[in-house]
Amino acid sequence: MPVARARRLLRRFPGIGEPGADKVLLFSRTQPVFALDSNGLRTLLRLGYGREVKSYPATYRSVLAAIEDELSDDFDGLTRAYLLLRRHGQGLCRRTSPVCEACPLAPDCGYWLNAGGRVTATS
Ligand code: SF4
Repeated sequence: MPVARARRLLRRFPGIGEPGADKVLLFSRTQPVFALDSNGLRTLLRLGYGREVKSYPATYRSVLAAIEDELSDDFDGLTRAYLLLRRHGQGLCRRTSPVCEACPLAPDCGYWLNAGGRVTATS
């Protein structure tokens, strides 16, 4: 089944949005799609992928579109990426007070570089 149709069918279930549908497809190993929770999404946005807009689904799609050329269709790799980005967002790239000073991604991070290497604002 094409990915777009699978997403549409899953989104008929209550509480399942596009990110949730992608997670179901990935973790059930039905479709090798990239999925992100809010922690992973925030991390990739700060690193410079996509654009944050008012609509969460639009932001989600923007980040996916920005990173798609860098992804493989390997289930294990995509699953690892989901879990690592989630963990990174929970531990270091927190919504408020990210711990950039301890982040190995800081030299390549737009958020960090735009803040002049000193993060004082939250987003
Ligand atoms: S440097 Fe800071 S904002 Fe950038 S990814 Fe690391 S923790 Fe997140």
